[in-house]
Amino acid sequence: MAVNLLNYDGKSLVDFCTEIGEKPFRARQLLRWIHQFGIADFDLMSDLAKGLREKLAEQAVIELPSIMSDYAAADGTRKWLLSVGAGNGIETVFIPENSRGTLCISSQVGCALACTFCSTGKQGFNRNLTVAEIIGQLWLANKMLETCSDDAKSQTKRAVTNVVMMGMGEPLANFENVVTALDLMLDDHAYGLSRRRVTLSTSGLVPAIDRLRERCPVALAVSLHAPNDMLRDQLVPINKKYPIKELLAACQRYLSVAPRDFITFEYVMLDDVNDSVAHARELVKLVQGIPCKFNLIPFNSFSDSGYKRSSAEAIRVFRDVLMHAGLIATVRKTRGDDIAAACGQLAGQVKDKTHRLTRLKIETVQ
Ligand code: SF4
Repeated sequence: MAVNLLNYDGKSLVDFCTEIGEKPFRARQLLRWIHQFGIADFDLMSDLAKGLREKLAEQAVIELPSIMSDYAAADGTRKWLLSVGAGNGIETVFIPENSRGTLCISSQVGCALACTFCSTGKQGFNRNLTVAEIIGQLWLANKMLETCSDDAKSQTKRAVTNVVMMGMGEPLANFENVVTALDLMLDDHAYGLSRRRVTLSTSGLVPAIDRLRERCPVALAVSLHAPNDMLRDQLVPINKKYPIKELLAACQRYLSVAPRDFITFEYVMLDDVNDSVAHARELVKLVQGIPCKFNLIPFNSFSDSGYKRSSAEAIRVFRDVLMHAGLIATVRKTRGDDIAAACGQLAGQVKDKTHRLTRLKIETVQ
């Protein structure tokens, strides 16, 4: 059976080349063709000998998720709904900003962690994505941004300069596949992204944070969302297994290994739940001594969420308390609201949208 080369990092490609009787340096050529140049057709890999191309065509494929829909929001945000087979859909979101373009990548179909404010969490867990399905999101985004129309180009920052593993799923619950994909993102022969421009966001799987520390130097974001265990137990149920004290100790250990600079703490702003001045003050005490930044995320409502977004004033006051205490705190701009692409609205709604798309007979792109 043909193997999907998109599942392989540099080392596995060397093993594959050796198995088919080729020199190891061919792996580097393949990596470049597949990931740097975005070529999925062996015939177009012009510096590979014809015999090797024929061998590859017999024994390998480069198989990507298929794009079911491609939305562009008024603010330039792009969202792709991707099919990964058996009726499963995931979303990938590209957010253009002045000096960068950030791609938000999914790691699982659904999620088992059931954070109570998250639409994906409400769907339950279906399966882990393969390496090909994870890195394929970056491959496809680069391709789609490269081929967008002139009109779209003028509105959209095209290049993916940053990646956040912050889409559907808990990335550390799909550890090996996610780390292999991260290795490809950082590999100079593949995507060559700087470790500072690749961020993994976790809800706090402590043993996996420790494993990541040993394996991969990417930036770490932690979904904190509450300043004490009683509240965090309600919002992020995995807290019952790995309470805040253990989580923050893992963050300290993560930062103890060079080269790592700070932890980003994400904090979703929920009206009358976790957004008071007292909560902000508690938070300041909690993170004392940890090099960190806060990203305050206005909640994006979805049906049956049971929560409301904090008022702009409450968010401003909360941020000011953190900043007056010397912490760096930014409020995330809500992006792509008109295409339901903002955080918390990611592919947890895929099934609904898939049905809607079928009804509307929106054409598939690929
Ligand atoms: S917030 Fe993240 S970890 Fe929590 S349920 Fe949603 S996808 Fe899973």
